[in-house]
Amino acid sequence: MSIECEKIKGINLAQGVCDTEVPEAVRQGAKRAIDGGTNTYTRADGLKAIRDAVAAKMRRFNGIECDPETEVIVSAGSTGSFYAACLALLNPGDEVILFEPFYGYHFNTLIAVEAVPRYVTLQAPDWKFSPADLERAVSPRTKGILINSPANPSGKIFTRQELEWIAAFAQKHDLLVFTDEIYEYFVYEGRHISPATLPGMRERTITISGYSKTFSITGWRIGYSIADRKWSQAMSYFNDLVYVCAPAPLQIGVAQGILELPESFYQQIPKDYIKKRDLLCGALRQAGLTPSVPNGAYYVLADASVLPGSTSKEKSMVLLRETGVASVAGTAFYHGSGGENLLRFCFAKTDEELAEACRRIRTLPEKVGSAVAASHSR
Ligand code: PLP
Repeated sequence: MSIECEKIKGINLAQGVCDTEVPEAVRQGAKRAIDGGTNTYTRADGLKAIRDAVAAKMRRFNGIECDPETEVIVSAGSTGSFYAACLALLNPGDEVILFEPFYGYHFNTLIAVEAVPRYVTLQAPDWKFSPADLERAVSPRTKGILINSPANPSGKIFTRQELEWIAAFAQKHDLLVFTDEIYEYFVYEGRHISPATLPGMRERTITISGYSKTFSITGWRIGYSIADRKWSQAMSYFNDLVYVCAPAPLQIGVAQGILELPESFYQQIPKDYIKKRDLLCGALRQAGLTPSVPNGAYYVLADASVLPGSTSKEKSMVLLRETGVASVAGTAFYHGSGGENLLRFCFAKTDEELAEACRRIRTLPEKVGSAVAASHSR
């Protein structure tokens, strides 16, 4: 879709590129590191500066105590963290429970290590599930469950009660819990709770996050995982094998950002993004693409029933052709036939670009009216 969008010079609300500004402290930290000679391989789990900074942040923000020497593994983005964790902790044939709609890389990473996803389908529009849904998905081969909160693409924030259900379930069936918290600072309703802080969960939980989104550095590839030392050594080994290490000077830039940026920086994120969310949801509503308003992250799933086309791919192509706005077909987030009526839009855009995208989306009713008429006359 991004390629199709580029061809027509459209506005890309398909990818979570996050082209907002990189904080000064982060940029300066990386530049100083390059000039100061931090340009060689680092320890596989990262430089001391970033492991220490992440451990301090985990205590302060997430409420998780971890040893920066042995329990923090810096990787090539949270994508790298998840892949290294899967390589280290899953065997072919192991089942992992995935909530759907899911994030494609979660699904594909499990497939890449020959694990078998089992699905719990969240029910729109509130993306709810029940403890009985979890029990239906488990088998003697289940090794883990994956939580992504705030979630891509639904924007769901798992409530404390839901996390308590998952915690009890994980303990009952002796499961690992993989939790992807990359959107932890993008919370609009409710609050972010790290599953590892629930009683009995610290040891069985692999907490994954990173700075791609928070510092708008998706191309830098800096993420990390926090895991009990029972698991962390094997994770670090696979991280070394696949990536060697995360980019050295960029580790320093991120460490600098974590150390220097004030609390107000993080508080500003939801303030800025809630405006973007509301602008986009308003435009979608006006266009008849009823949005499921997200509580977190920076994506909106919208009901695309009004668009011509028999699949969500066709609908996203109609939208691109008629308005020049790219979205992702909802089927990308489901394993079966789900998502055919959904499109996903990303609002991690500069205010100017998002405003222009919204202006174009609002023109949809007249455009679609004529597109439908044209298809009838063919
Ligand atoms: N996890 C989720 C849920 C995401 O949506 C994304 C990016 O879109 C990532 C991870 C990728 O993060 P990173 O850049 O740290 O690999």
